Amino acid sequence: MLNIAVVGAGIGGLSAGIMLRNIGCEVTIFEKLPQKSPGGVGIQISANGIRALREYGLAEKISELGDLPDCIDFINGCTGEKVAKIPLGKTAEKLYGAGFYQFHREDLTSLLRNENLRLGVKLFYETPVLTVHQDNKGPTVTTRLGQASFDLLVAADGINSLVRNQIFDEQPPIFLNQVAYRTVVSTGKLPKTFASKRTQLFLGSGKHVVSYPIRNGDLVNFVFCTEFDSYCQERWDTDANLQEVKDKFAEFTVLQKVFNNIVSAKKWGLFEHTLLKSWHRKRVVLLGDACHPILPYLAQGATQAIEDSHELCIRIKKSFRNRDLEGQLRKYATNRAPRIRKIRRASKLNATLFHLKARILVLIFHFILKMLSLVWPKFLLRRFSWIYSGGPA
Ligand SMILES: Cc1cc2nc3c(=O)[nH]c(=O)nc-3n(C[C@H](O)[C@H](O)[C@H](O)COP(=O)(O)OP(=O)(O)OC[C@H]3O[C@@H](n4cnc5c(N)ncnc54)[C@H](O)[C@@H]3O)c2cc1C
Repeated sequence: MLNIAVVGAGIGGLSAGIMLRNIGCEVTIFEKLPQKSPGGVGIQISANGIRALREYGLAEKISELGDLPDCIDFINGCTGEKVAKIPLGKTAEKLYGAGFYQFHREDLTSLLRNENLRLGVKLFYETPVLTVHQDNKGPTVTTRLGQASFDLLVAADGINSLVRNQIFDEQPPIFLNQVAYRTVVSTGKLPKTFASKRTQLFLGSGKHVVSYPIRNGDLVNFVFCTEFDSYCQERWDTDANLQEVKDKFAEFTVLQKVFNNIVSAKKWGLFEHTLLKSWHRKRVVLLGDACHPILPYLAQGATQAIEDSHELCIRIKKSFRNRDLEGQLRKYATNRAPRIRKIRRASKLNATLFHLKARILVLIFHFILKMLSLVWPKFLLRRFSWIYSGGPA
């Protein structure tokens, strides 16, 4: 039986823990942060990620904890005019065999953590992995607990991955002069439109805002994305200057009440990372943001980390029969890389479309959205069917 270490207890690492345990592996997860880390915002997991999690018996818990939006409304951020509507809810469930769920990030990670514990995965919080090395016998990790050797190490340690830095060659990422501010606001403090079961996407010149209810409608999650001149780090814990957020989105008059009720927000710089040629070195393999960060304009980063875990699990299971673990790790990357590349391209294109500046292009884009939404509403959803109905099989 394989003895596997997972570095990182984010959505990717915890999904990997559940899936690997389900096929009978011994799993130990090391996480540098405490179990209850402060803060937290929302996260959307589309049908492709939900289907993968459901395969591991999590359907009921997901529907208990997640909010299911009925639609996505595209709104002109300056005028408040509704431009288009993409049906989700039952339409998405019917098309893709699963709904699109919205969670408080803490709720989703605690669901996944509890399932790991129930399955007997060993989880060590406040235990950063300090070094990783490997020889012919396999990888060894050093933590405050000492050194431990494993048959395989799965690095799910996020965008600033220590394992990627120590073992893989990566070119430095490039700052895209874009930032995302993230916050949650209590629904009671906002206009009623934010309480309804829908995702809202407010479009503007060089910027957009996404909002959606979480925690059974008690909170509303906001992501404010904008072009930005000065450098900003790619990390979760940078506090945003609230006046800066207000100023950056001053023309979004429909959101003024929102700005008045933001207590704190985090600011995240958006970077382009080159896709690694190889996703594993001997018996160290990468997944999720540690492997291939994805810009947030399609809400696919965490969902793809879940898909990675599922594919990895399928490959490892296969290696039990053909005894070629490294060959299967290679296959994992071969199967996943084209899809990730395509999703990254589509996400970048969304950024361009959402942030159009020239007035004529904005008018054309909004007109096309409006017409499609009127005559063929499912088209806007079907445009990404290859994402939502795809994934490991
Ligand atoms: C503004 C914004 C909005 C987004 N919205 C969505 C969305 O709606 N839907 C979606 O699917 N994706 C979304 N994403 C992307 C998503 O957040 C990430 O892709 C996802 O969190 C990646 O999961 P992960 O498990 O790979 O990494 P992470 O979530 O970063 O987890 C990595 C974990 O590893 C731990 N760690 C790091 N170093 C060490 C170490 N040395 N030892 C031990 N532990 C370590 C970290 O503490 C962390 O817990 C968004 C991203 C941004 C920036």
